[in-house]
Amino acid sequence: MLTIQLANSSTFRGGLRARIETAPPAPKPALADPEAWNISHDPASQIVTVFVRSSEGVTAENLRRAASLLVRWLAYNKIGAVSIDLAENKLLAPESVFALAEGMLLGDYRFDAYLSSVESHTIEVNLLTANPAMYENALDRAVVICEAVNLARTWTNEPPNVINPVTLAERAQNLAAEYGLICTVLDDHQLREMGAGAIVAVGQGSNTPSRLIILQHAGSANEKPVALVGKSLTFDTGGYSLKGSEAMLGMNVDKAGAMTVLATLIAAARLKLKTPVVGILAAAENMVSAYAYRPNDIIKTLSGKTVEVLNTDAEGRLVLADALTYAQRQFKPRVMIDLATLTGGVVTALGSIRAGMFATDDELAASLFQAGERTHERLWRLPLDPEYAELIRGEKTDLVNSAIPGRKALPIVGAIFLKQFVDDGQPWAHLDIAGVADAEKRRPYCPKGATGFGVRLLMDYLETLE
Ligand SMILES: [Zn+2]
Repeated sequence: MLTIQLANSSTFRGGLRARIETAPPAPKPALADPEAWNISHDPASQIVTVFVRSSEGVTAENLRRAASLLVRWLAYNKIGAVSIDLAENKLLAPESVFALAEGMLLGDYRFDAYLSSVESHTIEVNLLTANPAMYENALDRAVVICEAVNLARTWTNEPPNVINPVTLAERAQNLAAEYGLICTVLDDHQLREMGAGAIVAVGQGSNTPSRLIILQHAGSANEKPVALVGKSLTFDTGGYSLKGSEAMLGMNVDKAGAMTVLATLIAAARLKLKTPVVGILAAAENMVSAYAYRPNDIIKTLSGKTVEVLNTDAEGRLVLADALTYAQRQFKPRVMIDLATLTGGVVTALGSIRAGMFATDDELAASLFQAGERTHERLWRLPLDPEYAELIRGEKTDLVNSAIPGRKALPIVGAIFLKQFVDDGQPWAHLDIAGVADAEKRRPYCPKGATGFGVRLLMDYLETLE
């Protein structure tokens, strides 16, 4: 349990005091652990100093890392309270308090719901200032956004026997009621009736069939909404194009895109964004059974376009195809952004540092890129030249869901497939987060497991529209 509060520096008499100081780059940076202890504690003065070893000085990202390191050190040493004097630390801008709070709240996160014994800790952080009112808004925003990130992490980390398309829809409805979002759930019967053949096909082998979950934050601006679309494969075995045992492990994270969308909607509602935002979660479980879809099946998507299934493991683009069509028909969004753990190919291209971005609109791409730099949820734009569409042209059908032959341009193939379901003139961006949604080991202010990537990025972007 971590609480951060603003306290008046003239009245507060605290125990441990923390300072964040720049230090010259370490001769041997500990690359293995990005948060290797860079802390010194002077028991006499009770001052703990967190050294930022960076040539750039104290940037927002360095503040996040230092703050995360500080709370982890406090927890490790079972120290329950600390004060940080903002003036003494030369952290006078509200953005500094925002970054500091982000680092602490995100760095303190743990997924321990299933451990029978957990060592709990309480840490109280007092931010000392002569002018608390100046920082209240920044701190409140940081708390709301980080709670959303941590919710996205937890729900992504939840195992597939706990979160499946049906239970996800129930959970989404409960959260929507709590935070004043409108929630609509379309079940597999309604989806079939509607003609959403792709999302139905992907989930038809599962005991818990597909759901399209729509969350709406009405906002107060008289504008078309921003539509956020998320892939939610609550588990992906690959289907009959079965994954190997090792590749299948961790496929509970295949719902990360949608969890980011859901968490962003909650943050948007709690912060009362003026911009209307709609979130569409395309939920399915890709299983093997007598009812499962097969390679060579021909399915008809909601758009009317037909697809021959060449690979049942390329299912994310199928559920998204119907979700993108639905978003445009239903909401005529001013901007549409989808997030998906879509391809292994994007991991080959960009690793775990940047997510792949594809966009039909340069202005949208530039805005998202900048939001990524500010939040350190970084993106890199990849191309969508029309020639790539040749790779997914079908012979018997309009499209095939996987490029054949060979292994060319896999992240682009995924994106260009999705683009076939985006109307001309619709500003759209696709973020392939397969490399960044799941941390293989601890990262700065994020433990191993789901990262909640995209919530801070999307909130930053949405706030630029206010
Ligand atoms: Zn798959």
